[in-house]
Amino acid sequence: MALTLPPIVQREDPEEVPEIPDSGSLPELPMVVTPPVPTAQPMTAPRLRRALSPETFGLPENFPGREDLRLRDGHGRALTDLRLSVTDRCNYRCVYCRTGSEGAQFTELPIAHYLRMLRIFVSLGVEKVRLTGGEPLLRHGLLDLIQEIARLRPAFSSAPLDIAITSNGHLLAAMAKDLKRAGLNRITVSMDAVDAETFSRITRIPNSFERVRDGIRAAQDAGLGPVKVNCVLLRGFNDSQIEAFAEFSRREQVIVRFIEFMPLEEGRSWSPQMVVPMREILNRLSAVRPLVAMPANHASETARRFTFDDGVGEIGIIAPVSEAFCGQCSRVRITSDGKLRTCLFSQQDHDLIGLMLRGATDDEMISWIRRVVQRKEARHHIGEPGFLKPSRSMVHIGG
Ligand code: SAM
Repeated sequence: MALTLPPIVQREDPEEVPEIPDSGSLPELPMVVTPPVPTAQPMTAPRLRRALSPETFGLPENFPGREDLRLRDGHGRALTDLRLSVTDRCNYRCVYCRTGSEGAQFTELPIAHYLRMLRIFVSLGVEKVRLTGGEPLLRHGLLDLIQEIARLRPAFSSAPLDIAITSNGHLLAAMAKDLKRAGLNRITVSMDAVDAETFSRITRIPNSFERVRDGIRAAQDAGLGPVKVNCVLLRGFNDSQIEAFAEFSRREQVIVRFIEFMPLEEGRSWSPQMVVPMREILNRLSAVRPLVAMPANHASETARRFTFDDGVGEIGIIAPVSEAFCGQCSRVRITSDGKLRTCLFSQQDHDLIGLMLRGATDDEMISWIRRVVQRKEARHHIGEPGFLKPSRSMVHIGG
């Protein structure tokens, strides 16, 4: 089934939306003054507790049994990558993601609650934190949150914690410098067309292309580059943009990453025929200029990387459907309402916030987290008979 682009709908300027929860059902959240958070505190065992102090940068490499203390799932995968959704609200209604009629469905937590969860995960071996949503730039207190995360130190690595955001970029031009100053390292901007009219039809927001492009440029100027630009490709919908995105990557010096469409939308539009597979994208790009493969940055990298024969531009292809990479999955997710998810395609959330609000100690939370991630799914089952859509769609999980 092909998705057709709707006409551009005039609605209130999304800049005005941030302050107002759009479902009307969100509770008033108190402004939380976050207490300073020290270097990731050891919380697994007394010996780990002794080994780390706020002054210690990570756990010494020769610490006995060091690797055994890492958070691992039942398949032996180390969980080093945490995605945290800081709001369920979004100021875009991308037609392949949202039905257009639904607002936020889930609440958001005070910043201090997210911080406590993050500290615990960092003490267990998380090395990358990605803030997402909804649209994370809508979230009050985001800069405070980033500042506090930037004070954490990974427990098992001497490298600093990697702090990234995934955003639609609509509010980025005004915020890029502050985000950098707060300690953000990297930003990924979602952009599904480089043709301005097509883009507005996808986001349902007039002039959104110019806003997002300016946001990307501001992020590059603020030192958040190279910016990654993620484009979800849908056959017969925006796949005509592949070549133009290659030019965009070269001209704007951004890393363009094409992502296969997954059955994670609010509506029911996904079908295997809509997925534009990696092989086809590569063939199309090669016709622009010969492609040259680039090495992966690290073992769990989801994108296959390419540049062109003159070294200008970078393209990544993320193919979770046609070439699944679940075997290397290092991710866990926390939703805006504080539920732990072990896979995008999980049928179940795990009530981390409930445990926390019932007064669990850090050690109790750690034991619970270790038990939950033991059952992390081996892989997704997209395209297989009996595949069940996950219990939440992408926008309500945090992509
Ligand atoms: N508002 C932020 C943004 O636009 O980047 C963060 C949330 S958004 C849900 C995160 C990413 O998920 C976006 O890049 C979006 O394109 C992607 N996404 C949404 N639905 C998807 C689907 N069904 N398959 C693949 N990616 C999807």
